[in-house]
Amino acid sequence: TYTIAEPCVDVMDKSCVEECPVDCIYEGGRMLYIHPDECVDCGACEPVCPVEAIFYEDDVPDEWTEYNAANADFFVEL
Ligand code: SF4
Repeated sequence: TYTIAEPCVDVMDKSCVEECPVDCIYEGGRMLYIHPDECVDCGACEPVCPVEAIFYEDDVPDEWTEYNAANADFFVEL
């Protein structure tokens, strides 16, 4: 799955939402989240993010790896 990390906080540009072929990017209070079970790993969202907030889960920079769990947890709490 792909993960949205800290650069999205309070930005929520949503260019990624338009690119996602399976509509698995959802709006939270302060950032967008990718549903890990719905993401098909197509990678379409990554290059369109103006703040480079999106990474393949294994490529999330060390300082933001907590966002892998944060994306998954967002949907558990719904
Ligand atoms: Fe959607 Fe593809 Fe991005 Fe996954 S990698 S969130 S399926 S656009």
